Parts: sequence; C-alpha cells; structure tokens
Amino acid sequence: MAKKGDMLYAWTNDADIKKKAELGGAVTALWKYALESKAVDAVFAIRKGKDLYDAQPVLITDPKELAQTAGSLHCGTLLMPKLVKKYLDGAKTMKIGVTVKGCDVMGFIELAKRKQINLDNVLMIGVNCGGSVSPVSARRMIADKFGVDPDKVHKEEIDKGQFIIEYEGGHKGISVDELEEAGYGRRSNCRRCKYKIPRLADIACGNWGVIGEKAGKATFVEVCSDRGANLVNGAVTKGILVTEPANPKGLEIRGKVEGAMFKLGDKWRRKDFTALGANLWETINKETSRCIKCYSCIENCPVCFTAAEDLKKGSLMVKPGELPPNPMFHLRRFAHISDTCINCGQCEELCPMEIPMALFSHAIRAEGDASFEPKLGKATYSN
Ligand SMILES: Cc1cc2nc3c(=O)[nH]c(=O)nc-3n(C[C@H](O)[C@H](O)[C@H](O)COP(=O)(O)OP(=O)(O)OC[C@H]3O[C@@H](n4cnc5c(N)ncnc54)[C@H](O)[C@@H]3O)c2cc1C
Repeated sequence: MAKKGDMLYAWTNDADIKKKAELGGAVTALWKYALESKAVDAVFAIRKGKDLYDAQPVLITDPKELAQTAGSLHCGTLLMPKLVKKYLDGAKTMKIGVTVKGCDVMGFIELAKRKQINLDNVLMIGVNCGGSVSPVSARRMIADKFGVDPDKVHKEEIDKGQFIIEYEGGHKGISVDELEEAGYGRRSNCRRCKYKIPRLADIACGNWGVIGEKAGKATFVEVCSDRGANLVNGAVTKGILVTEPANPKGLEIRGKVEGAMFKLGDKWRRKDFTALGANLWETINKETSRCIKCYSCIENCPVCFTAAEDLKKGSLMVKPGELPPNPMFHLRRFAHISDTCINCGQCEELCPMEIPMALFSHAIRAEGDASFEPKLGKATYSN
C-alpha cells in the first residue's frame, strides 16, 4: 500500500487515456478513479482548444470525458486557483480535483489564507513544471528559430533541455538555453521559478527520474499527503493504475535535475534583477508610465482580489480620468503584495502595455525575503 513519502513509477491500463497521455497517464487515471469513487464531484483540468497554443480550462464531471484532458500543454498561461475562486465558488460548495503546477498550488494556498477558497474541498494532483511558454512568443519562436509555420505544428514538448516540435514533414529540437539567450523560450517568471516539484499538492507527478524501460511510459509519482496515498491505493485496487517503487538510480537523477533547475533559477534571478539597474524605483516609474489603468494586473493576481472594482470608483491613489496613474498606485500595490507574490507571472503576461510587472514584484519579494527573513526565505515554497 502506498503511503505519504513514497516514490513510485505509475502507469495506466486504460486504453483511451494511454493514447493521449503525456507519459504513463497516471494523472488522468487518478482523476478517473477520483470521479468514479466520488472522492471529487468534478475535475478541473486543461485540454487542447483550437490548437496547441490554446490551453483551455475544463470542468469534467463524467469520467468518460476525462481522456480529453490527458497530455501536457507547455504553451498555456493559465493560473487555476483564480478561476476556481471566480467561477467555481472557491470550492465552497463542491469537491474539486485540480491538476496544478507549482504556481497553481501557491495560488490556492494564498487564496485559502484569505478565505477565498476552501482547501478542504480541493484535491490537488501536481505536475512538475520546468516552465511554460507564452502562446504568442511560442508562435514567434517557432516561426523565427525553427523556421516552421506554427499552424503546422501538432505536438510540442520540453525534454532533456530541448524544446521539441513535431510538424507536418518532420520534427526539430533546439536547446532551451540557446532559445532563451536569443530572447525566446520560457516565460521570464518561469525561468526564475524555483518551485519545480509541487510537493504541497497531494501528489506530485513528472517525468524526471523515470529511467530504463519505463522511460517515457511511466509517470514518476511522489505521494505528498495521506489523501494522495488514498487516491493512489484506490486507483490501484480498482485496476486503473499500476505502480512499482521508483528505481533508486532514477530517484538520484531526479534530485540532481531538480538541483540543476534551482541553479538555473538563481542564474536568471541574478540576470533579470541586475538588469533592473541601480535605481529600481526610477525603473518602475519609467516603465509604469505606460499604464492605461485597465486593472488587468489586479484582476489576474491570485494575491490581491477585491481592489479592482473599488479602485475603478476612484481613490486617493487612483484619480478617475488620470493617465498614467500616479506612480504611488503601482508602488502601493507592490507593497501590498510584496511578501506574498508567488511569481506566477499573470500580471505581466496579461498586461496589454507589456510592463514587466512580475519582474518588479518578484524582485521586491526576493529582496524582502533575503533582507527581512533570510532564514525563512526558502521555507515557504522556495518560489
Ligand atoms: C507546463 C508544464 C511543464 C512541465 N515540465 C516538466 C518538467 O520540467 N519535468 C517533469 O518531470 N515534468 C514536467 N511536466 C509534467 C509532465 O509533462 C506530465 O504532465 C506529468 O509527468 C504527468 O504525466 P501523465 O502522463 O501522468 O499525465 P496525463 O495523464 O497526460 O495528464 C496531464 C495533466 O496535466 C494537465 N495539464 C496539461 N497542460 C497543463 C498546463 N499547462 N497547466 C496545468 N495543467 C496542465 C492536463 O489537463 C492533465 O490533467 C510539465 C507539465 C506541464 C503542463
């Protein structure tokens, strides 16, 4: 029987899931069991929309429909917790299973602290995340660097440090380092992220550490809670999931890859934070002078959630009709979220004026952690 702390290789026997799954299909198989056993009322996951740059959130209640959510979409930009708060009543009235990346887990926790989400009703299966690519820049990157029409691409993946595409007529991989040095690749907040294995979820799944004959065919599963262990045990008993202990060598490799990702995160922090210049406030004032006061940064932030409507009515900081807003508006917002910014990048990703909001916010958060809580800085999420 699996228990909290176990490290497993897992794969499904369900033919429909197997066909679409990224690896062993453990995530989707576990959701199928969760729905069938009524451990959850619904599963909130991602499916491919119009094309592979269109990661669509979908709420599934019929286990037969789950296979459509299998597979990884690396060009999505979604953050799940804010959607659960906005459209699913913060999971106050139903039990929801959610597939989460590290930033999603942190967002759930921050919203739960603010009583916007009932975490007791949220079961989380985490997927390790080396980072995602913005759909717009993915298209640009594929056209410019791969020389391929983005509409001809039917599969993308990030494997062994390469961004790989399959398209009509072939497949091509380019090192992520090379792409990022050229200004493409993962979203900038993802490059700086150091929360790669979402251990605060109930289960954390990934491909790192799956070696030997199981490579590419099984999912690496870390059981992170008793609820997670119950889910795995139930799915195994039902025959929808097969598990075996992870190969110890694979486990060691997984640890090394995670360590290398931390170092890479540090490298990008140094690079991005240094590029902000000696006077951060001057840089912020200059960049935010493009602000058109659309409030998207607030509406999409998982940490501040009620302010936008109030701010639109006007306040000391935000006078109606004034553009750009007084710089105090942004400085005050950064102060408000500075100790809880989860570096999800939504503020920046969705800013129509391309102001590097997430970079400012993350720089302030990281410096605050280092200055005021040097010992605690890594204790929360290592984000
Ligand atoms: C953006 C991203 C980056 C990843 N990077 C790594 C990595 O560097 N190292 C590693 O070990 N593993 C990584 N993974 C996890 C890996 O790709 C598999 O998702 C995981 O191993 C589970 O495999 P599976 O066959 O069991 O999943 P499946 O049964 O195929 O299920 C995949 C689940 O992920 C959900 N999903 C797909 N795209 C997204 C998305 N953009 N955001 C949230 N949920 C999504 C699906 O809805 C589904 O629930 C990444 C996943 C994503 C989405």
